This record gives sequence, structure tokens and C-alpha cells, in this order.
Amino acid sequence: MTTKPKVFGHLLVEVIRPERCVACGSCVSICPVDAISFVDGLPKLTGKCTACGECYMACPRVEHDFGESEVGALGRNRSADEAAHGILLGAYAVRTLQPKVKEHAQDGGAVTSILLSCLDVGASAVVAGLDKEKAWFPVPVLARDNHTVIECAGTKYTSAPMLLAVKQAEKEGVKKLAFVSTPCQIQALRRRQKNASETDTLALGLFCMETFNYDKLMAYLKAQGVDPEKVKKFEIKSGKFIAHREGELPFEAKIRKLKELSRNCCRVCLDYTSELADLSIGNVGSPDGNSTVLVRTQKGEAALRVAEKKGLIEVKPLKDYQPGMSLVDRLSDMKKKENSGKPLD
Ligand SMILES: Cc1cc2nc3c(=O)[nH]c(=O)nc-3n(C[C@H](O)[C@H](O)[C@H](O)COP(=O)(O)OP(=O)(O)OC[C@H]3O[C@@H](n4cnc5c(N)ncnc54)[C@H](O)[C@@H]3O)c2cc1C
Repeated sequence: MTTKPKVFGHLLVEVIRPERCVACGSCVSICPVDAISFVDGLPKLTGKCTACGECYMACPRVEHDFGESEVGALGRNRSADEAAHGILLGAYAVRTLQPKVKEHAQDGGAVTSILLSCLDVGASAVVAGLDKEKAWFPVPVLARDNHTVIECAGTKYTSAPMLLAVKQAEKEGVKKLAFVSTPCQIQALRRRQKNASETDTLALGLFCMETFNYDKLMAYLKAQGVDPEKVKKFEIKSGKFIAHREGELPFEAKIRKLKELSRNCCRVCLDYTSELADLSIGNVGSPDGNSTVLVRTQKGEAALRVAEKKGLIEVKPLKDYQPGMSLVDRLSDMKKKENSGKPLD
């Protein structure tokens, strides 16, 4: 007996209505008949569904066996020692040696320098840029040149549907891709790779405790007298959310006070370090001016070493620094504990 595939209606009931949807664009981008569109930031059936079930299979938020995804993406399951941070071949403190990257990057510029190294060998990159009309509104960008990759450096603490740019890449016949995003969207990428993609993709996953709801964040900033147009950089450091402004003192608030600005979908996420990525990158654990880079696959290791050999980055073992992996593990465990089995309101 063949079972009918689950379709968009199931996504609506299981994911979208209960506010578990991360708005990654995976379902929109995989639909073979373009029947799903983004409407007000969420996927909506706007065409005729052929009930193929591709959208359901590509969603990172439907119930699925994470262990199976881990084997599919990384070739094995984690050992007991790797429980908190996921599969780990090496952990490093990395900083860019490229002044232009340093100027634009969020932390050590590891992500941007590794992307530039990938572009050198003919890859394109999916990165988050900013909308020209709407302050700090992130948009997916398929970058083909160094200038665009550098311009898109830096953290946007709200979310963009990055999988839409993967579809664009596939449509344009891109053969090699470097994809950057948060843990949920790395999971979406892996589900897509399992089901459809033939593009050779390097997955660079960012550490992420949560993303903010764009409208709520903007309203909060305005209520605090912060003009988002004047903010040059947002940062989360030592438990504080900081908005660096042009010609003014930075605005600072305790991060726990901003809890209600985070997206509901983040409250069921157990993945702090992008556990399915080839390389996972954050700032906690390594000294200021560095990025913490966790290598999870041989492909990730090769990308890191090529960038190092080209003289784009300096790579030091993370174990030489405090707090190193102990802080990464603590925050990873904290996220898993806080969000495990938590029902959404
Ligand atoms: C929402 C969010 C939450 C984060 N939370 C943590 C945290 O709790 N702890 C921690 O250690 N690190 C966190 N990070 C990661 C951290 O902010 C830096 O991105 C990381 O340290 C890499 O720094 P870098 O200088 O190497 O990156 P850069 O060289 O500046 O490159 C950053 C890359 O990330 C892309 N990017 C930026 N924002 C987004 C986005 N919203 N979606 C997809 N791609 C994006 C950029 O386009 C760029 O390609 C978070 C990042 C994000 C986006």
C-alpha cells in the first residue's frame, strides 16, 4: 500500500499556524510548480498544488529524525563527547588578515574571508544583504563578486528567506555554492540537498540563540529613541544588546529584556551551533576580534585550510584560549534545555 505524501495543508496545520515556521523559503523554493509564495513574510499556497509533497519534505520544522539528518549531512552520528556541540573535527579561533574584510565584518571576519576564498575558485555565495528601502531589513543575496560578499558582511539579528537564493543559484546553473545562514536554515539546506539539489554546496552555519521579529525590533528601537537608519552595527556581547550609532553613544540593553522580541519559532529550536553545517561560526569562546570556527566535515576543513594557505585568515587552536569550547558547550546545553519540549503559546 502506498501512503499519500504530506502536502502544503499539513505544513499549514503542523508548522505555519502553530508559529513554528522559520520563514526560510525552503517550501517556496522547492515547489516544482511555483504554487507557494511568501505573503506577509510567511509561505502561502497561491497556485495549484499537485500534492507532490516536496514542500513538506523540505521543511526544517516538521518532525523528523535529527540523527538521520546528521548521518545524511555529516556521514555519522555524534559521539557522547560531542553531545552539546555536535560532530567536531577541530575548533579554532580565526581572524581575517584582509583589512577590508575586518572593516565590515561582525567579529573575526572568518565567514567573509572563507567566502572570498570560495569565490576565487568559481563558487557563488548566498549571503544576507540589506534592503535598500527598509532599514536593517535582511534579504537573501546570491553574490558572485568580492565586493557584494564584503558589503553583506556583518550580523543581521532578524531573519531572511535564504533558501530563495539557493533556488536562484540552481536556476542560474551555479555549480559551486557557499551558503551562510542560521542553524534552522542550515537544516533546511540539508533537507533540500537530501531531496533535490545537485549543486556542490559548502554550508557555513552561524551560532544563534534566537532571531528577533523585525517589526518588534524596529518598534522597540524607536520607542527607546534609537533611529535604526543611524545604526552602523548591532552586536550582542556579554549579555548585552548593543546598537552602535553614527555620532552618538552606543545604545545598550540587557539581552534578557529583549526576550519578547524574539520570534516564536526560535523557542522550539535546539540547535545553537548549526550542528549540520560543514563549518560553524560564532563569536563566543574566542578572543575579541576573532571568530570561533568549528570544523565538522572534511569539506569544511579543506575550505578553512585553503583560505589559510592563501593568507586570507590566521587560524589558531581554540584550546589555547579561555573560555574556548566550555562556553560554547554551556550555551549549547542551555538552548537545548530551555527549548526542549516547550509548547508555544
Ligand atoms: C541571528 C543571529 C544570531 C546570532 N547569535 C549568536 C550567538 O548567540 N552567539 C555567537 O557566538 N554568535 C552568534 N551569531 C554569529 C555572529 O553574530 C557572527 O555572525 C559570527 O561570529 C561570524 O562572524 P564573522 O566576523 O566571521 O562574520 P562576517 O565575516 O561578518 O560574515 C557574516 C556572514 O553572515 C551573513 N549573515 C548575517 N546575518 C545573517 C542572517 N540573519 N541570516 C543569514 N546570514 C546572515 C552575512 O551576510 C555574512 O555573510 C549570530 C548570528 C545571527 C545572524
